[in-house]
Amino acid sequence: MALMITDECINCDVCEPECPNDAIYMGEAIYEIDPHKCTECVGHFDEPQCVQICPVACIPINPAHVESRETLMQKYERLTATKAALPQPPSAPSAGV
Ligand code: SF4
Ligand code: SF4
Repeated sequence: MALMITDECINCDVCEPECPNDAIYMGEAIYEIDPHKCTECVGHFDEPQCVQICPVACIPINPAHVESRETLMQKYERLTATKAALPQPPSAPSAGV
C-alpha cells in the first residue's frame, strides 16, 4: 500500500528527507506522497520511515492504493532499476598525480 498525508500535517518538514524513494514532496498546502513512488518503505526498511518520524501521526494508508507486499517489492525493484539507469555524475579527478 502507498501511504498518504492528511490535512492534519503541520508542515514540520521532517518526513521529506527520510523517504528513501523521494516520494514525499511539498504540495499546494501540505506535504503529499506520490503513490507511484511510495513502497511503504518495503525494500529499504522494516517500518515506514515517515510514519515513524511524524510528530502528529497524520500518515495513514492510502485507501485508493492498496497493494500487496509483493506488489510493493516489484515497485521497489522498478524504482531502483530506474535510478540505476540514470547517468552517474563524473567522479572527481584524482589530485596530485
Ligand atoms: Fe516514503 Fe516510506 Fe513514507 Fe512511503 S512509507 S512515503 S516510501 S518514507
Ligand atoms: Fe507533515 Fe508529518 Fe511530514 Fe511533518 S512529518 S511534514 S507533520 S506529514
